[in-house]
Amino acid sequence: MSLNLVAVGVDTPLYRQFDYLVPNSMSDGANPGLVPGMRVRVPFGRRRIVGVVLEKPRRERGAGHVYKPIEEVLDAEPLLPGDLLQLLCWTADYYQHPIGEVIAAALPGPLRQGTKLRPRSAKMAATSRAARPELGEGPPRLTEEQNAALNALAAGSGFGVSLLQGVTGSGKTELYLRRAEDCVARDEQVLVLCPEIGLTPQLLERFAARLGASVASYHSGMTEAERAHTWLGVRSGEIKIIVGTRSAVFLPFARLGLIVVDEEHDTSFKQQEGLRYHARDVAILRAQKLGVPVILGSATPSLESLANAQAGRYRHLRLMQRVNASAVPKVQVLDIRALELTHGLSEPLLERLSANLESGGQALLFINRRGYAPVLWCGTCGWTAVCRHCDVRMTLHRSRRLLLCHQCGSEKPVPARCGECGGTELLPVGEGTERIEDALTARFPQYRLERFDSDRMRKRGEWTRLLADVRSKKIRILVGTQMLAKGHDFADLSFVGIVNADQALFGADFRAIERMGQLLTQVSGRAGRGPSTGSGQTRPGEVILQTREPQHAALQKLLREGYDGLVQQLLAERKGAGLPPHGYLALLRADALQEPAAKQFLFEAKPLLKSERVTVLGPAPAPMARRAGRCRVHLLLQSTSRGALQKLLTDVVPMLDELPTARKVRWSIDVDPADLF
Ligand code: ADP
Ligand code: ZN
Ligand code: ZN
Repeated sequence: MSLNLVAVGVDTPLYRQFDYLVPNSMSDGANPGLVPGMRVRVPFGRRRIVGVVLEKPRRERGAGHVYKPIEEVLDAEPLLPGDLLQLLCWTADYYQHPIGEVIAAALPGPLRQGTKLRPRSAKMAATSRAARPELGEGPPRLTEEQNAALNALAAGSGFGVSLLQGVTGSGKTELYLRRAEDCVARDEQVLVLCPEIGLTPQLLERFAARLGASVASYHSGMTEAERAHTWLGVRSGEIKIIVGTRSAVFLPFARLGLIVVDEEHDTSFKQQEGLRYHARDVAILRAQKLGVPVILGSATPSLESLANAQAGRYRHLRLMQRVNASAVPKVQVLDIRALELTHGLSEPLLERLSANLESGGQALLFINRRGYAPVLWCGTCGWTAVCRHCDVRMTLHRSRRLLLCHQCGSEKPVPARCGECGGTELLPVGEGTERIEDALTARFPQYRLERFDSDRMRKRGEWTRLLADVRSKKIRILVGTQMLAKGHDFADLSFVGIVNADQALFGADFRAIERMGQLLTQVSGRAGRGPSTGSGQTRPGEVILQTREPQHAALQKLLREGYDGLVQQLLAERKGAGLPPHGYLALLRADALQEPAAKQFLFEAKPLLKSERVTVLGPAPAPMARRAGRCRVHLLLQSTSRGALQKLLTDVVPMLDELPTARKVRWSIDVDPADLF
């Protein structure tokens, strides 16, 4: 007699399939039986845990294997809709991650832990902002460019990816709103993904104000209970619009009609630990399976998306002009090699800033480093403060009076003496946001200044409160990291100073120059209308970039030919090197307390990774060879065929835990890595 078995996804890092016995009582005539997507309670080792019934075919083991019975069925109907369960299985396969952990990642805490649904909980009260008529203001009349793009977006039906490339302020969000309105009118749901929690409130506000539908956000800043509430509201169809960060791509939509990925180039869409998925890519797959359209929006699309557009796989739509007809300002390069700097700021920059502020302008100073200074240096012997656990220098945070490692988070008091020679002349070298803040506060005490970085924005609600003060122009000087470079629409910002671009030019990663191009374009795009000339006219905004590398080829290319020019050059280079988007990568990382163990593991893995179409490089130390006390080594897998790489990984990854050294290391696989660190 054959056993009645089902595969269950259980939350464990093991790659095996777990089959359980279905007791007769659960499959008799009075019982609809077990349907994929239902949660069950099962024995697992010495514990009892919650798992989800899968669709996977059951493979019976040889005689003698003892299957444990399912103890309890927790759902009367599948908690996870079939299409979502399939998406999660695909995600697990593609990113080589155990299915049980993928399912767990997609479920908010209470549901993961087995909280039963109350019979009528599908009819929950709408959590979110309900419909609110907009007072007086209707939607704006679209510009010609917007109209053309909207017609293209509305053409056709079913699945299709549109890459909407438009400069900041060109009205991309307005087009998302128009497409979303259509969906809501058909009683369909819309998913809007954005890269940062900080961007969700303003987008949420715009969708809520425009659409007569319930809108909610979904991100890691919410409590697990809030997330569960929203999760169920999406599942019941009550919530129509979700504005969320990457994990929202796994919400159980009842009737999804459109996915928008805003700032699609942003690498925050790639999760960097655990399940290393790219939310944009998962979103596209989801849309394809459901037959619904996707809009990817950005001023600076990723090379991946641009290559897809050039190959005709995506529809490429462009908005070249700002809605308010103000020109996108030209970047002025300031060669600081021969200039004296005060805390990293040159006199010409300070003078232009001063003139701008005096004429009523609002200014942003961009420095992509938090803290006071990235290096604490001994003037006597040249010693620098380094982290005990990582291969990096510690950053001086003067306001908190400590040295902080930005890699592992370890901190220590600022030493009074040099760790090497005992000298007392310890100097901060280089600058971070705090230092620029101090320098500008001293220079311009008459204007309100605020710093925007992750240290300053710890408190919930702080960001929203400060953004309001930026909008009302109470804040005149903004000093900040890339947090400010993303997506925000600051209508009155008239001056952007890029304190130092050079760090971005010399990143070790193969995507460093692409990121530099995106970041500089995004930051300078924040400068809008210039200050008034007095006669009702406005001058164009002003962007000044300080650099010691004015001749750097990539920087020159960007300044002369814009992001488009830089992209063409980078695509050609990537093609030559077989790098994405002209090749596919996966990274097998291993770390251990001692480097030899990590290396040994990869040496054991390497012979398994044999395929004619996949090149395996390494083992080699990671660019950051030691982090949080662990030595990091990796193997880089490279192929021109995504299929060949996938097949190889699918065959080999489940075997890695069986390797002799596997227990001495931590290992992980990263498919389509965002960087090679
Ligand atoms: P993007 O998303 O490309 O940065 P937005 O859609 O946010 O651009 O538009 C920038 C600003 O212009 C917003 O304040 C928006 O309300 C406004 N806007 C957009 N389209 C129009 C239009 N056709 N007429 C007038 N204002 C518009
Ligand atoms: Zn010293
Ligand atoms: Zn450290």
